[in-house]
Parts: sequence; structure tokens; C-alpha cells
Amino acid sequence: MNIGVLGVQGDVAENVSATKTAMAKLGIKGTVRAVKTPEQISKLDGLIIPGGESTMIGQMSLVSGAIKTIKEKIQSGMPVFGICAGLILLSKNAKDRVVGKTNQPLLDLLDVRVERNSFGRQKDSFEAEVSAQPLGIAKTKGVFIRAPSIEDIGKGVEIISKFNEKIVAVKQANILATSFHPELTHDVSLHQYFVSMVAKKK
Ligand code: GLN
Repeated sequence: MNIGVLGVQGDVAENVSATKTAMAKLGIKGTVRAVKTPEQISKLDGLIIPGGESTMIGQMSLVSGAIKTIKEKIQSGMPVFGICAGLILLSKNAKDRVVGKTNQPLLDLLDVRVERNSFGRQKDSFEAEVSAQPLGIAKTKGVFIRAPSIEDIGKGVEIISKFNEKIVAVKQANILATSFHPELTHDVSLHQYFVSMVAKKK
């Protein structure tokens, strides 16, 4: 199994490490590494788009051509896990809570409307207990850093988690997305779930 973490900007190393731990816990053999080029992405069985700055990750991936390959791979069924900025990039629609429309490049695949910086600014970042019951995860921890939330979902989208009445995790077929960072905690249950999604597809 070959899982990549989009390595343009953001918390790439933390996701590589959490995914490796998750694979080991499941007893699955495979490689996990940072990827950047369309060529590297074309060979993947699964991709994590990490947290960071979505405008930056989107723009750089547009210029390198990675965004086109990522979109084609997801459309052909490759599982993807979008975290925070990754969730924003996967969405069909995103606006900022304060500045409104940002015209940033989006993959336009996940049928949700996202509000960026939904919980406030950097200083309002926090850690909280969340659950992901539909995935069989009763309790886990999430780190919310300038986190987005999901304001509206389309038909094929399942709500996985809510926090303070806001939707913070969803699943749509081969797309899993959270507005919080599970890789910044010691609990790899969401990464484990994602590795199982990839294993099922293989
Ligand atoms: N607010 C950031 C953005 O819009 C996301 C923050 C994060 O990934 N932790 O890109």
C-alpha cells in the first residue's frame, strides 16, 4: 500500500508519522511519504491533504499541476483524507468568516459549503474531545487551529462529527474530511480508519 501526504506546506511530517503508526497497528505493510509532483501522486493508493494554509497549498498545487492529478485520482476512486486546510481544498464551496469569498483554487469535489476560520483566529485555537460515532470511534481528541466548519452539506455527504453544533467531520464515498487535526494528538484512530478505507479499495 502506498499512501502519500501532500507535501507542499503544513503539518506533513506529523501526518506521515500518524499514518505509519496506524498502518503498524493494523498490521498492514506499506509506504507513507510526502508527495508533491503529479508523477508521485499518480502512483498512490491513498492521499492525505494536511492542515496548513489552504490558499497557499492550493495555489502551489495549481502551478505544479498536482491539483489536476489529485482531482482525477479522487474521481477514479482513490481514498483521500482532507484535514483542516485539506477539507477546504476538497470542498465545492468555501468562504472566510470575516473576508468572505477568497477565490482560492479548490478541488470542487466534496459537496459541502465551508466557512473558513469558523471558530475564530489563531489565538482562538483549542483542543477538544470529539467523537466520530459513524466510524465506530466513540471518543478521540481534535486540535482546532483556525479551524473551518461545514455550514451545509449535499445529498451524498454523511455527517461524522459535530462540535458546538457545528459540523466538523464528514464522509462522502472515498472522501473523508475533518476540520480538526487528529495527527497532533497521540490518538491515531482516524488515521487507522483512513488506512482501512485504502485497504478496502486495494
Ligand atoms: N484557516 C486555514 C485555512 O484556511 C486552515 C487552518 C489549518 O489547516 N489548521 O487554510
